Amino acid sequence: RVWNFSAGPAALPEEVLKQAAEEMLDWQGAGMGVMEMSHRGKEFTSIAEAAEADLRELMAVPDNYRILFMQGGAIAENAIIPMNLLGQHDSADYVVTGAWSAKSLKEARRYCKAHVAASAEAGGFTSVPAMTEWSLSDDPAYLFTCTNETIGGVEYPFEPDLAAIGRAEVPVVADVSSHILSRAMDVSKYGLLFGGAQKNIGPAGLTIVIVREDLLGRSVPACPTAFDYKTVADNGSMYNTPPTYGIYIAGLVFQWLKRQGGVAAIEAQNIAKAKLLYDYLDASDFYASKVDPACRSRMNVPFFLADESLNEVFLAESKAAGLVQLKGHKSVGGMRASIYNAMPLAGVQALVDFMRDFAARKG
Ligand code: PLP
Repeated sequence: RVWNFSAGPAALPEEVLKQAAEEMLDWQGAGMGVMEMSHRGKEFTSIAEAAEADLRELMAVPDNYRILFMQGGAIAENAIIPMNLLGQHDSADYVVTGAWSAKSLKEARRYCKAHVAASAEAGGFTSVPAMTEWSLSDDPAYLFTCTNETIGGVEYPFEPDLAAIGRAEVPVVADVSSHILSRAMDVSKYGLLFGGAQKNIGPAGLTIVIVREDLLGRSVPACPTAFDYKTVADNGSMYNTPPTYGIYIAGLVFQWLKRQGGVAAIEAQNIAKAKLLYDYLDASDFYASKVDPACRSRMNVPFFLADESLNEVFLAESKAAGLVQLKGHKSVGGMRASIYNAMPLAGVQALVDFMRDFAARKG
C-alpha cells in the first residue's frame, strides 16, 4: 500500500480494513455480511450500540449529550444546524477562519440573519482570531466555528469557551470533521459538535452529531423530519435507515483507537507527526508553511515549494516513491499533506525523507 495523504476520504487503519475484509461475507457467524443486515436486527443493533458507547468513552461525552449517526455529510449540516437550532431566534453568529466556515456562513444566510462575529479573511485565512476579538450579536441562536480548517490547514489553538467572554448562554457549534478524535476536546464546552466521518472515522456517508439535550426540540417547521435532531435522537438514529456499513467501520476504528491507548495516546502521536513535518519545513529554504505557527493544523499541512515551477515534478516523483494525494487544494495551491490518526509516524518520516532528497537534488 502507498502512503496516502488525502484530505478525505482518507487512509484508514490497515487492521480495520483487514478485519472488515475477513468479515465481509460472514460477520461473526451470522452467516451474512454487515451490509446485508436489517438495521433493526439484533446483530446490527449490537454493532451500533457498541460504536456509540465506544465513541462516548473515547471523547468522554457527558450523559446530557446525545450522539447521532446521520447522513448528508458536513455540508448538509450547514443547513440542518440552523433549521434545528434557530427556534424563536432569527440570527446566528459565525467565526470565519477559512473555506469551510465561509461556506457554512453562506448556507446559514438562506435561513437566518448570519452575523460574522470574527473573520480571519484579511490575513488570508492563516490564523484564528483570539476570542477577545470576537464580537457576538445580541441574541444569536448559536455561535458557529470550524475548529480545523482542512483546506487552509488552520486549527484552533484553544477551545472556544464563551463563558470566558461573558456569553456562556450562547451554545457553541463546531465543525470538527477533520480533527475529531485527534486531540482531547472538552465536549461540555460545546452545544453541538459535528463532522463527516471520511477523515478520522470511516467511510463517507456517515455524519456524526454530538448535541446537548436541551438543544433538541427547537427545530423550525420546515425542518425535514429525517433531519430533525429530536426525531433522530428519539429513534436512536434509526428513524430512517442509517448508513449501516459506515457505522460498522466507524465502530472498528473506535476499537482500534482504544487499542492505541485512546485519544490522549493518539494526540501524543499526532503532535510528534506534526512536529516532524513542521520542523523540517521551518528548517528548509526550499519549502515553506504560510500558516501562523500558533494555529498550524496537526492534521492538514499545506506547504509550498519556493520554486513553484517544480510543483508538477514534485508530485510526479513523490507519487512514484509511493507518496500520493499531496496536491494542495486548488483554492490554496502548493501541496498539502493530511496526516490523520491512521497515518503512522513512519509515513510522515517517508514524506520528510523524500522532501529532503528532492530539495537536495533540485535546490
Ligand atoms: N467541513 C470540513 C471542515 C471539511 O473538511 C469538509 C470536507 O470535506 C466538509 C466540511 C465537507 O464535508 P462533506 O463532504 O462530508 O459534506
